[in-house]
Amino acid sequence: MNIHPNDIERLDEFLHACPRLVVLTGAGISLASGIPTYRDQQGQWQHSEPIKHQEFLQEPARRQRYWARSLRGWPGVRDAQPNIAHHALATLEQQGSVEALITQNVDRLHQRAGSRKVIDLHGRLDRVRCLECGAMHSREAIQKQMSGQKSQQCTQSSPRPDGDVELPEQYIAAMRVPSCSDCKGVIMPDVVFFGGTVPKPRVESCMDAVARADGLLVIGSSLQVFSGFRFCRRAAELGKPIAIINPGTTRADDIAQLKLKSDCGPLLEKVASQRAALC
Ligand SMILES: [Zn+2]
Repeated sequence: MNIHPNDIERLDEFLHACPRLVVLTGAGISLASGIPTYRDQQGQWQHSEPIKHQEFLQEPARRQRYWARSLRGWPGVRDAQPNIAHHALATLEQQGSVEALITQNVDRLHQRAGSRKVIDLHGRLDRVRCLECGAMHSREAIQKQMSGQKSQQCTQSSPRPDGDVELPEQYIAAMRVPSCSDCKGVIMPDVVFFGGTVPKPRVESCMDAVARADGLLVIGSSLQVFSGFRFCRRAAELGKPIAIINPGTTRADDIAQLKLKSDCGPLLEKVASQRAALC
């Protein structure tokens, strides 16, 4: 529980000055739910780099690696629970403070905490799309299709973000890759991997929300990836104030009006409950 002095007042003032916010969240908000982040406080990779979009599409061996690791890692995301930061944002939405909640996370924890105005910028891990026929499958159905395979029993794995784990090579080589139950085509999680492109209508609805809002609140992201950073740039162009809650450096620090380094969970909970008491 780490709240820096004055951060509650400063965030509350920001919310007061910007009654309708676009909130942009990154991996840092799900850390307290047991889902690791990609980068350290300086914005550097903490682990090996995650799979890239083109690798998944073009290299069968990378797909095999992906699914072997995901078979072991998916239950960690599936069973993760929203934390106080997710719940506080749902409360702020109920209070009318949230125009839209853009998340770079694929874990669906905002929705499970009760937020309704969520845009899953990078997609969602609980769905799998067939690249041939376009059918959408639940990730859990694919898990069942893969069950009983060797990597599921591996005990030497360590968790990585987004349902990925580090896994010894022998488990990867033995992996039988799942396919579409309708057409046997190549399937892919319904997420935008690194190097992939966010669908244009999705980006536009985020941009529209930024234009309608009074300000932008960034939580738990170093904004290293352009797909999230562009909303900060747009907010700045439109003269909308930006507040950032993140312990480490972010790419938007120099265009933000407010930078708070407190833990986002206790800080948001405190501010949301103070405002609830006033309603
Ligand atoms: Zn198919």
